[in-house]
Amino acid sequence: MITFLIATRNAHKVGEIRAILGSSFQFLTLNDFPAAPPVIEDAATFAGNAAKKAGELAHWLATENSKLKIKNSKPDFVLADDSGLEVEALGGRPGVHSARFAAEDAAASGNTPDADNNAKLLRLLQNVPAEKRTACFRCVIACVPVVAAKIENASPVCYAEEPAWSTFDGACEGKIIFAPSGKNGFGYDPLFVPDGFAQTFAELGEDVKNQLSHRAKALAKLKIFLDNRAA
Ligand code: IMP
Repeated sequence: MITFLIATRNAHKVGEIRAILGSSFQFLTLNDFPAAPPVIEDAATFAGNAAKKAGELAHWLATENSKLKIKNSKPDFVLADDSGLEVEALGGRPGVHSARFAAEDAAASGNTPDADNNAKLLRLLQNVPAEKRTACFRCVIACVPVVAAKIENASPVCYAEEPAWSTFDGACEGKIIFAPSGKNGFGYDPLFVPDGFAQTFAELGEDVKNQLSHRAKALAKLKIFLDNRAA
């Protein structure tokens, strides 16, 4: 059975990835690796950040593997999700800064609370009418195999050049409403109504969200890749 390290501590993301990929895989998260080095998400694109997270952690695992004692399994692949919200009226913001939108201007590092990010989004959109509040969630998942270095002390860049290194993307179009609604999900879910629906992701709940979200679409592509690899 393939074991993935999901490169996040975001329990909501882990829950969605597990639910969508299903029970034929084993999953570990960064909570299983307290010593994992932090990865600075400073790339300009979702793909760049996802690749950086997965590549650096796969490299670390490959070098540290013999020293690590992880339940009874070790990861075959690192999966890293980088995702966020692009709002048309804001020129694509918050984009790659979605997790730290409320602190963007203060140049603070680290993520900011969802409630603060949502409040800032509503403030910036306060004069934007309903028909111009179009937005899109985007997700890029990078999947990097944990393989021993071919060259002693190989850099993560060497791993990024491995042929088995792959990314998968997904998008979900919708609009931003005027006040939060719903209790499920995380992040901007209480403000986002996907096209074809009248309720937010936070009202629709995880079963519906996991059928149509940006993450679900990226993971569907990853599943095809894994099936082809196994065939
Ligand atoms: P990341 O963990 O660096 O990829 O940051 C992702 C950020 O984008 C989250 O903190 C949320 O603010 C936002 N985001 C990404 N995916 C979703 C989603 O499915 N629902 C709501 N917000 C999301």
